[in-house]
Amino acid sequence: MTYRVALTGGIGSGKSTVAEEFASFGVTVSDADAISHRLTAPGGEALPAIAATFGAEMIDATGALDRARMRQQVFADPAARQRLEGILHPLIRTDMLAETEAISGPYALLVIPLLLETGQQSLVDRVLVVDLPEAMQIARVQARSGLEPDQIQRIIASQVSRAERLAAADDRIDNGGDPASLWPQVERLHQAYLKLAQLHDDRPPVHLARQSR
Ligand code: ADP
Repeated sequence: MTYRVALTGGIGSGKSTVAEEFASFGVTVSDADAISHRLTAPGGEALPAIAATFGAEMIDATGALDRARMRQQVFADPAARQRLEGILHPLIRTDMLAETEAISGPYALLVIPLLLETGQQSLVDRVLVVDLPEAMQIARVQARSGLEPDQIQRIIASQVSRAERLAAADDRIDNGGDPASLWPQVERLHQAYLKLAQLHDDRPPVHLARQSR
């Protein structure tokens, strides 16, 4: 079975940047956000259930999910958010496992922003966290999106804390420096994951291990 590493981190922590560097080593990358978009694009697999649950008006003229409308609906209604997640998360999970099932490379990287919030650690063999100080995180999200700092702070507050994330991490990438400082960290981890994937592959089936005694 494929050795799977989850890449997670808060908003704007640098997950996409880090994932691209792993991909440049030939690592298979599966991205939960990209899958979620695909599931809700025109003809997307999640749309029938979303229309049945929230009404056909949630689908726009192009046949895609009306994101602005859906966001409005779940913004102030946790029960609605849960229903939406109940539709999307199992589909995302299935697609991620399928995408990383029969791969050519030695291991797969699963980019799952809300790995810990959605309790999906059991999906993976290892958890890699991209970490940086909160002030830097806010500055980068602001530069990218133009959101106000208090809006960004609210999003950060809705995610697990930096300390909780680090407590769940098997490995950590420090993205508090310049982009060039990522490369040696990614390279070192890639070498480590190659070894771990090899050990994972070499594990003898239980009955063989017993026979050899
Ligand atoms: P995520 O995928 O976690 O939301 P991104 O990889 O998109 O994060 O990074 C967030 C923003 O910060 C992007 O605009 C990216 O170009 C920028 N960024 C990422 N790492 C660095 C860095 N070390 N220094 C400066 N900017 C960075």
